[in-house]
Amino acid sequence: MTAQIIDGKAVAARVRAGVSTQAAELRARGIAPTLAVVLVGDDPASAVYVRNKTKAGRDAGVDVRDHKLPATTSQAELMALVETLNRDPVVDGILVQMPLPKGLDESAVIRAIDPAKDVDGLHPTSLGYLAQGKPMFVSCTPKGCMKLLAEVDAKVEGARAVVLGRSVLVGKPVAMLLQNANATVTMCHSKTRDLAAEVRRADIVVAAIGRAELVKGDWIADGAIVLDVGINRQPDGKLVGDVEFAAASQRARAITPVPGGVGPMTIACLIENTVEAARRRRG
Ligand code: NAP
Repeated sequence: MTAQIIDGKAVAARVRAGVSTQAAELRARGIAPTLAVVLVGDDPASAVYVRNKTKAGRDAGVDVRDHKLPATTSQAELMALVETLNRDPVVDGILVQMPLPKGLDESAVIRAIDPAKDVDGLHPTSLGYLAQGKPMFVSCTPKGCMKLLAEVDAKVEGARAVVLGRSVLVGKPVAMLLQNANATVTMCHSKTRDLAAEVRRADIVVAAIGRAELVKGDWIADGAIVLDVGINRQPDGKLVGDVEFAAASQRARAITPVPGGVGPMTIACLIENTVEAARRRRG
């Protein structure tokens, strides 16, 4: 079997086009969906992410307000900015780019965001709603994963899904979404005894570990669907995922490439959440 390569760029472009239409409808009624993006410090990777989010938002008809703060910003100053954005009636969504410089408490900052503006879906309230099966804002990468499964008509209900990684950012919310969609979910992590055996049983594999090609091609069951969230830079500068792509492609029914798979979905879902926030708050 040679897998269908899931074109995340194309799916993300369709999501963004749909979001543009919704944003234009809101604008026609005098509501400009607005995202506040907060970047603290000068981490080059974070700066690139913020630039891409800003561009994607503006292209889709979302007003993006950039708040760039120096690395010397104190916790109190950052919390005060979040409070100001919470109170600003024009701001629909707040995104604080992670990681924050050393010494700043990321969890406290996330907790300070008004859940009605938590377009990143990382506030405990958002995660709580997701755990209850009544999601408000779903974090962007996990939401993107579910859209990619829909794209290949994956039968999630009743499927055996194995999620590799249990971070609050990816693994845990993906597992909750799959469970909410009636999959039988196994979560694996660094203490899992036999990762290969778990993966071999899976109809759906979501790899979110951050270890280059740790998941071997021959672990993948024939006909499985593989979503590779991992982004790992090789010494030669090339990006690879957590899954051995070429070998896994010989067994899977569908698989995401790295880059160009899950990655593009994350920003598209952020913009979608922002327009959704504007509709809920002001529509
Ligand atoms: P993370 O917070 O570092 O979590 C990694 C998870 O992988 C942890 O749960 C860890 O287990 C588990 N793990 C580590 N080594 C393992 C091993 N040898 N076997 C099994 N499990 C292992 O990472 P993250 O933020 O979730 O991100 C994961 C990857 O996705 C990274 O490559 C990141 O760059 C990428 N990512 C991509 C996007 C995108 O838009 N495509 C978005 C976010 C993240 P323990 O809990 O036991 O430590």
